[in-house]
Amino acid sequence: MTISVRFAPSPTGYLHVGNVRTALVNFLFTRKAGGRFLLRIDDTDTGRSRPEYVHALEEDMRWLGLIWDDYKKQSDRFDAYEMARQKLMAAGRLYPCYETPEELEMRRKMQAGRGLPPIYDRAALQLSQIQKEKYAKEGRKPHYRFLLEDKPIVWYDLIRGEVRFEGAHVSDPVLVREDGVPLYTLASVVDDTEMGITHIIRGEDHVSNTAVQMQIFTALGAVAPQFGHLALLKSSEGELSKRVGGNDIRSLRDAGIEPMAINNLLAKLGTSDPVEAFPDMQSLIEAFDIKKFGRATANYDVHELERLNGKLLHKLPFTAVKERLPFADEHFWLSVRANIKTLAEVKTWSDIVHGETGKYGNAEHTEYLAKALSLLPSGNWDETSWGIWTQSVSADTGRKGKELFLPLRLALTGLEHGPEMKFLLPLIGREKTLQRLKK
Ligand code: GLU
Repeated sequence: MTISVRFAPSPTGYLHVGNVRTALVNFLFTRKAGGRFLLRIDDTDTGRSRPEYVHALEEDMRWLGLIWDDYKKQSDRFDAYEMARQKLMAAGRLYPCYETPEELEMRRKMQAGRGLPPIYDRAALQLSQIQKEKYAKEGRKPHYRFLLEDKPIVWYDLIRGEVRFEGAHVSDPVLVREDGVPLYTLASVVDDTEMGITHIIRGEDHVSNTAVQMQIFTALGAVAPQFGHLALLKSSEGELSKRVGGNDIRSLRDAGIEPMAINNLLAKLGTSDPVEAFPDMQSLIEAFDIKKFGRATANYDVHELERLNGKLLHKLPFTAVKERLPFADEHFWLSVRANIKTLAEVKTWSDIVHGETGKYGNAEHTEYLAKALSLLPSGNWDETSWGIWTQSVSADTGRKGKELFLPLRLALTGLEHGPEMKFLLPLIGREKTLQRLKK
């Protein structure tokens, strides 16, 4: 049996950290098993789905390296859903209901008042033929509910172990809207069956969908796939939006986060494995095991993502970033990579090193800088020059540590922190060093 999984986003917004985690876990699971990965666009809700979101989510998936083997759109498959609807009707498992949303809401309030759970009371099953005809004449269109069997629904979840629901404690789900449009709950089962999906891995928020879908699979004469429900991610929203503009993948990308930083973090959140900065998917695939995921809510922290981004960059060879840094060479990259958190900072350092107009010089230390200038080593500079220079400055002035180094760093770069000065000094070069010390 070939393992087959799918990622099934609804194109009603941009991909975010939460649904990318679902996509990634599916991807790693199937790649580890040598299986297939299907991207399915759940766009039966034409009112809320937007083509630009479809486009954006495909682009984001590619950017992350989550490449799919097959692609389907639910909006292309209405015929298949219509056949399933007819089959369920013929089997007596779909029944027409005429309640308006307001009537249903009132009934739920009454149930709540009496301390009852908000389960649909199946009033529509009691409607007489005459009543239904009367509704039809009034122009009321029915929606259709699936008749659940009043028996226990049990499955062995890849993450949660045995899960049990009482059919009687779940509402009959609406599968077809008044306008005849099939809902996700039905469409998904039809697709998962026809596409040979063997494992459905999705968020815990779908557990009750799974309960009803188990019965729909059976009612359609199919065998339900295996299910795994991931515990959800928790994050401190406020902080997220302040730091990097949001937790959708586009904002992270715009903030300079690398795709592999996202993958490395999301592959491990909620597992017993440490988060590491692997350069590509291969190591994540090899280490993947769905059993490593726990049942507790996992914490997503954007600071962790930023740190991981730095760690990842610190290890990357020039070849991996060359195309994105047309202004830099390998020597420059190796000089600054240990001190950056995002690739954009390489440009900042290039501007600082080669620039003309920064806040260079240091008026508070004119005398000290003049002294230092007179002690600059002669000849061509290399990575030993900074050490030689500052030793003689120290011998001459008696300065040590911060007092010795900081005014020089400030004068030469305009900043108190940055890559090691032994790398920067030869990159800045003699001419600019002289100018900046004199300023
Ligand atoms: N379109 C559904 C969602 O985004 C898919 C859920 C599923 O994986 O079945 O929540």
